[in-house]
Amino acid sequence: QSTPRLFVEAPLGIGPVRIEGPQAHYLVSVMRTKVGDPVKLFDGVSGEWLGVASAVGKRDLILDVTERLREAEVVPDLWLCAAPLKKGRVDWLAEKACELGVARLVPTLTRRTVVDKLNLDRLRAHMIEAAEQCGRTAVPELAEPVKLAALLRDWPGERALYFADEAGGVPAAAAMRDGSASAAILIGPEGGFDEEERAAVRGVTAAVGVSLGPRILRADTAAAAAVAVWMSVRGD
Ligand code: SAM
Repeated sequence: QSTPRLFVEAPLGIGPVRIEGPQAHYLVSVMRTKVGDPVKLFDGVSGEWLGVASAVGKRDLILDVTERLREAEVVPDLWLCAAPLKKGRVDWLAEKACELGVARLVPTLTRRTVVDKLNLDRLRAHMIEAAEQCGRTAVPELAEPVKLAALLRDWPGERALYFADEAGGVPAAAAMRDGSASAAILIGPEGGFDEEERAAVRGVTAAVGVSLGPRILRADTAAAAAVAVWMSVRGD
């Protein structure tokens, strides 16, 4: 059974850490953590540490943090700007963005975005859980939802903007290969971008329309595919 990994709010350091709530339930009841058992901890900023259970209660436990196992990861500078989707799909998108190594998830509101109240806490919880599972030491930042026009208005010149365009564009891998180390991928909603939005994106100097193939992908599929392509040619 692999050593459990938990995200704890920063700052982490040598010394005792008290774990309670659902994380304590997971360790005590699911992982059957006993005194002396190891638990890996990370706080998103200082890397990964080793904790050893020193006291195990019914609802909480104390972990003695004894050493740092890994420095904080170098996060490839990729933003995923995606229109929020229906509940289950946006949760899946957030989880895949984290697993695939995204630095920042920017919920981008477009005219055809159909979404009830976006629950940012739920999305962040999904990303934390994905980071615990996939071994990341950093959890992607989750930006406040932003309208497409506002996002494009002050686009930073050095950041490449790969606009995933189902109407066709440069093959994604070719466009991304030689692009800037700071990049963003823009994915539309289920209903796609409208003509005005397409024109606004094309107005950004750093924007390149990229194709993920001849099929019409669901927005969440396109997001995961585009990030995977960028990571395979740029990230690490
Ligand atoms: N216009 C689409 C249609 O006819 O159904 C609706 C948009 S598609 C379901 C959702 C988003 O995924 C698009 O806005 C685009 O960003 C991305 N996408 C889908 N297929 C793609 C492809 N083959 N290449 C690049 N992006 C794609």
